[in-house]
Amino acid sequence: FRILHGSRDMALSLVDLVQHFGVIDDTLRVVGQPQTVRDVIGAPALVKRGGMVEFRKVSFSYGSAGEALHEINIEIPAGQKVGIVGPSGAGKSTLIHLLQRLYDVNGGSISIDGQNIAEVTQDSLRRSMAVVPQDISLLHRTVMDNIRFARPDATDEEIFRAAKAAHCDRFIHKLSEGYNTVVGERGTKLSGGQRQRIGIARAFLKDAPIIVLDEATSALDTESEMEIQRSLVRMMEDRTVIAVAHRLSTLSAFDRVLVVDQGQIVEDGSPLDLRRQGSLFDRMWRLQAEGLAVENT
Ligand code: ATP
Repeated sequence: FRILHGSRDMALSLVDLVQHFGVIDDTLRVVGQPQTVRDVIGAPALVKRGGMVEFRKVSFSYGSAGEALHEINIEIPAGQKVGIVGPSGAGKSTLIHLLQRLYDVNGGSISIDGQNIAEVTQDSLRRSMAVVPQDISLLHRTVMDNIRFARPDATDEEIFRAAKAAHCDRFIHKLSEGYNTVVGERGTKLSGGQRQRIGIARAFLKDAPIIVLDEATSALDTESEMEIQRSLVRMMEDRTVIAVAHRLSTLSAFDRVLVVDQGQIVEDGSPLDLRRQGSLFDRMWRLQAEGLAVENT
């Protein structure tokens, strides 16, 4: 790692190497997680179109535990922005993990633009979506390399553009060496909000038709919160968005909200429609408006 330090091309080979061996990538995969899915022999690449997503009778359980999802049906037209909400343990993260094919479904199927995600290459599936996790893990490298991670062949100009679109530019310029500041372990520490904006910059750089967002639950200061909202709104333009949403401010930007409870979709509609009296969504909304977390419902 020390030998590679300092040179852009060599830094890129490090990124390629790491991605090649599957130690880490820009999805929610974690180091050491066992590979549970495999490409079908001769699997074709996913052909990207508009980013239509469909879950058909999807059931899933982790090992011998009970079902985390039971016969879920969801149709998301290309370009729709969908927020997923629900109590803790309802199955929200499982839904977005299955869409990334971190696990194979036990029943039913998930398709993107009409193609079953289990029948296309994982590589092409990964290229079709940008994942913005709750807390991105930064490489102990420069800010530049950390953004470039989403697309190793990106030019510097493309990286600056992505950083601006994600409202990162200003805070990056304030760092001691700007884009060349080394961050992460033993480097400059970034706040949770700043890290999430680097994640959003990566998503801009990747320019995929589908965005999978796991919104941070942790409290952010008001300025970070506002900057993130602005960058999210921009990122969501013209893309299909599927987001585990925790904040009321984000929810109002969605066309549709799916309320998950005990592994099933129990409510489905626009945020306004779902505010009807007595709905689970309305109850969660009120609790959060009173300053309590959605998870406490
Ligand atoms: P939270 O809001 O707390 O993150 P969630 O709605 O995202 O919750 P999931 O993480 O999807 O819920 O969990 C759904 C169910 O699956 C829960 O019962 C949970 O305990 C279980 N589960 C989640 N991950 C695993 C795992 N890796 N192994 C075994 N069970 C799991």
